[in-house]
Order: sequence, then structure tokens, then C-alpha cells
Amino acid sequence: MTTLSQRDQRHIWHPYTQMQTAGEPIAIVSGKGAELTSDAGDTYVDAISSWWTNLHGHGHPHIAARIAHQAATLEQVIFAGFTHAPAVELAEKLLALLPDNQNRVFYSDNGSTANEVAIKMAMQYWYNLGEERHTIIAFRDSYHGDTFGAMSISSRSAFTLPFVDLLFRVEFVDVPVPGQEEETLNQLEGLLRRGNVASFIGEPLLLGTAGMMMYTAEVLDSIISLCHKYDTLVILDEVLTGFGRTGKMFASDYLTAQPDIMCFSKGLTGGFLPMGITAATEVIYEAFLSDDKMKTFFHGHSYTANPLGCAAGLASLEVFKQENTLSKIAHIQARHDAFAERLVAHPQTSGIRVLGTVLAFEVGGGTSYFHNLRDKMYDYFIQQGVLLRPLGNTVYILPPYCITDAQLDAVYAAIEGMLGELTNWQ
Ligand SMILES: *Cc1c(COP(=O)(O)O)cnc(C)c1O
Repeated sequence: MTTLSQRDQRHIWHPYTQMQTAGEPIAIVSGKGAELTSDAGDTYVDAISSWWTNLHGHGHPHIAARIAHQAATLEQVIFAGFTHAPAVELAEKLLALLPDNQNRVFYSDNGSTANEVAIKMAMQYWYNLGEERHTIIAFRDSYHGDTFGAMSISSRSAFTLPFVDLLFRVEFVDVPVPGQEEETLNQLEGLLRRGNVASFIGEPLLLGTAGMMMYTAEVLDSIISLCHKYDTLVILDEVLTGFGRTGKMFASDYLTAQPDIMCFSKGLTGGFLPMGITAATEVIYEAFLSDDKMKTFFHGHSYTANPLGCAAGLASLEVFKQENTLSKIAHIQARHDAFAERLVAHPQTSGIRVLGTVLAFEVGGGTSYFHNLRDKMYDYFIQQGVLLRPLGNTVYILPPYCITDAQLDAVYAAIEGMLGELTNWQ
């Protein structure tokens, strides 16, 4: 009999996968809470929230029911000239949680498009005002997505190498990791002084794809204030950090300064459906109001504000209240803090850090996405029934908030087991 995985291998091209060397994909038939079940009957603890999307657990009954109800009521409608309750309500509920200068919501499909929309808004904002500001500043190790604009504002890396000549020019500053803050602020001010900077864009507090790099809210506050001193817009990409990941509802909740534009996706729908949101201040919105049609924001996707995605987003926010999710998040953070102390004692670990529900560290020294330990660690974790996907030699845990103590123990045990194997692999 041909298995699902074998049929997959005949026709499917997977993301971020070298298909020549990739093993058979694991066919998942169902998910419940933090657990995934394969067609072979094996179970896996989803310790990376299925690529950072899932919040309250797979198959969460409240979100599933809300989507089913919405599907039977109104599954999709054009979003130009028309509107619908889920889109309006999600905008109202989300804006109530964001910094109080945020007042407009633009819907799209995923994290890359949320960022594309953000940079186009920022660029056209200055265009509409008749000012020549074309430069964007980003963090050197940033990741904002895989479409061309999102690649342009992301780190020049192995991901972007084949396209590097085609990407638009962006100025980069170093990530202000502890000890590096002054240097970053100096680099930033040097660029801002030129007076042609449209916007700064950054991932607040946590750069996921860069290898779970972390920096403080204090320096981000300084970055935002500095940008505003030079009239430069600030975009915060909360695609990963949004919806509780860093311990507060949004990373921007740690700040006193306010961004002008914010990007959301991943956890926005509780991890059920693809959807992106770009939020903006009224000041930005007003720069597009004109009798001149050329000042219109000519951007949109067929599935803009898809009612199913909006319903899932609303249901996810309801679950935050029903289940007191922020206390679950605090519990995970406390457990991570305790596990971090155990990791410190191990001779082959370094850079141990925790932010909210994210724990990360390096093994074997240095950092590299193509580190030779990566595949060995991944395979070992899978054998242990734990889905962990190290970024090179950076191991991280980023679980759904519903993860049980027993499941989290299994994840910690798999990591300690891996550390025990390390010397056999080196
Ligand atoms: C994942 C991610 C994106 C891209 O989102 P997609 O939905 O995968 O396009 C953008 N920014 C950040 C910070 C991300 O983590």
C-alpha cells in the first residue's frame, strides 16, 4: 500500500526543504491541544506551535465552532465597497488592545503581506506628503518574510542570496543585543541625520528567524524616540511576538514609546487560518485622504478580511479571556526560568535566555544556520516524540499556551537527552 507520505513525495514541494535529501514527511492526521498524531499512530508534542502559529492548542473547540458557524453564514465577500461584522469587530477588539495611537486596520493574508503593506504605507505616506524619503532602516539580522519587499527589508542571508541584486537597498543597523545598545543607537542616528529616511522597521524584543535573538524594551524605546526626533516612521513587526508570545499580550506593551505602524499574523487567528493585519495611526491614514485619486492606497488581496479568519481571530481573543491565557503564559515562563538554571550547569550550552514563552540557547559553540548538529538534534527530538526545530545550533522552545506540565516535562527531558548524546555526535 502506498502511504500518504509516499504520495506526498511524488507531487509536493515543501517550504524551506532541500527535497533531494529530505526524509519522508510525517503525515499528521489530527491535533489536540499541544499534541499531534500521525497516520502511524505516533504522537508528537508540538513544542514550536507549528511554526509559531498556534496559541491555544490544535483543534481548540471554541475556535473550531466559531469558524464552522461563520462558514455556514458568510464564508467570503469582496472587501471593497462591502464590509462584514467579523472584520469590524476584530478591528475594534484588536485596536482596543494596541497602543492608543493605533486607529486603523488593513487586512491581508500572512506575515509577509502584513510587512509589505506596512512598508508600502510608510513609503506612500511620504510620497503623498510630497517629501523625498525613500530609505528604510532595518536590523541586520531581521526577518520580515519571503516576498520581494519583505526580503529586501530582511537580512541578506542564505535565504536571499539568489535574489540579492534584485532587492531594493536598505540601510542596516546592528541588533542592540545586551552590550551593543550604544553602538546601534549611534549607527541609527548617523543614518537618520541624512533626513531621507521614510521608516525604521524592526521585530520588537525578539528576532525569531535570526535565532531567537533578544534585546531590551529600554533600547527599543530609545530607538523609537530617536526615529521620531528625526520625523521617521517606526514599524514594529509583531508577527511572531504578538498575542502573548513574549509574556505580555504584545511586545509593544513593554514600551513607553509608540510605533506608527504594526504588523500581525501567525497567532492572530489562534493559528487556525492564514491572515495578516497592518495597523496604523490616524495620522498615516489621513495622508491618503484626498480628492486626488493618485493618493489612494492601491493595495489589496482577493481574500482581504476573509470572514473565517476574522471569526477565528475573534474566537482566539475570547479564549484569552475564558481561559485566563496570560496566567498560563506566566506559568510557562516560570517553568522555562527554572529549566534555564538547569541548562546553565551543562558544559555544552551557552547564551541561555528566556522571554515569555520562548526559551533559547546555543549548543556546541558559535551560531550558524547550517550547523552540522542541527539535523542530528532534529531527528533525535522527533524520535523522542517532540517537535523541536533548531535554527542551526540554536535550540528553542516556543510552545502553545495550552501545553501541560507533563508535556513540557517531556520537552525538557528530550533536550536533556539530546545534551547527553552530544559527545557521540561531535
Ligand atoms: C514568520 C514571520 C514573518 C513572515 O510571516 P509569513 O506568514 O510566514 O509570511 C514576518 N515577520 C516575522 C517577525 C516572522 O516571524
